[in-house]
Amino acid sequence: MSRADFHVHTPLCHHASGWPVEFARRAVELGLEELGFADHNPMPAPFDDWRMDLADLPRYLDAVAEARALFPQLPIRLGLECDYLPGREKWIEELAGMAPWDFFIGSVHYLPEGWDVDNPKHLARHSGNAEEIWQSYWLTYQRCIRSGLFDFVGHPDLPKKFGYRPDGDLRRFYEPSIQALADTGLAFEINTAGLRKPCREAYPAVPFLQLARTAGVPVLINSDAHAVDELGSHFGDATALALEAGYTEVARFTQRQRRMVPLAPTAAGSA
Ligand code: ZN
Ligand code: FE
Ligand code: FE
Ligand code: ZN
Repeated sequence: MSRADFHVHTPLCHHASGWPVEFARRAVELGLEELGFADHNPMPAPFDDWRMDLADLPRYLDAVAEARALFPQLPIRLGLECDYLPGREKWIEELAGMAPWDFFIGSVHYLPEGWDVDNPKHLARHSGNAEEIWQSYWLTYQRCIRSGLFDFVGHPDLPKKFGYRPDGDLRRFYEPSIQALADTGLAFEINTAGLRKPCREAYPAVPFLQLARTAGVPVLINSDAHAVDELGSHFGDATALALEAGYTEVARFTQRQRRMVPLAPTAAGSA
């Protein structure tokens, strides 16, 4: 089973509970080998109500440092989940210079039309508009992948969160983004948060995984924990999905360099 979780939030984003020390304690209990914090990135000026304030960036760095000091046996990686916003790439470059980051996740929550597709306050916009929303989302996702700003991309088919999907074979949406991943060497995550949402399946759907595996695109398995009891959640299910798709290794990141580790033990008993 995958033994690292590289998508974990903190209370600094105003909608998560559990400080890095608490997540680290839980990670050790769970037998995780590595833990990566990836809170929602700050913006240069007030932007929305679900991300870290720029003024809190030092608190974030301190909180991760505190967890490292208390749990020296656990490798703890420092990251951010960055919103990819077309036209605002420069800000991500600035952020990259502000701390010794281990990894940046590129996520698309905002459509270019100016609203966040996973925000329950916009639930009413989804019904009857899935085709249009998915077209806009996946075009933005391709740009996110090709921006060169990130180490892996988050929750690939996020617009399904509330259970609305276009009709027909959805691979037409996946294929250009998988091509972009293959072209750029970027990884993507299997994000188990979808299993806790109305869509009731991990992000991304199985056909995406199969296409990505065939294209040789590296994968991670992450929980997107916003609370301590979500850390590593459904990793057994997600590992089974990855193995079924043919994956044998998962990616981890240190100082923005990718490493690959075996997904499952070849010998029985351990891991
Ligand atoms: Zn969040
Ligand atoms: Fe996200
Ligand atoms: Fe997240
Ligand atoms: Zn996320």
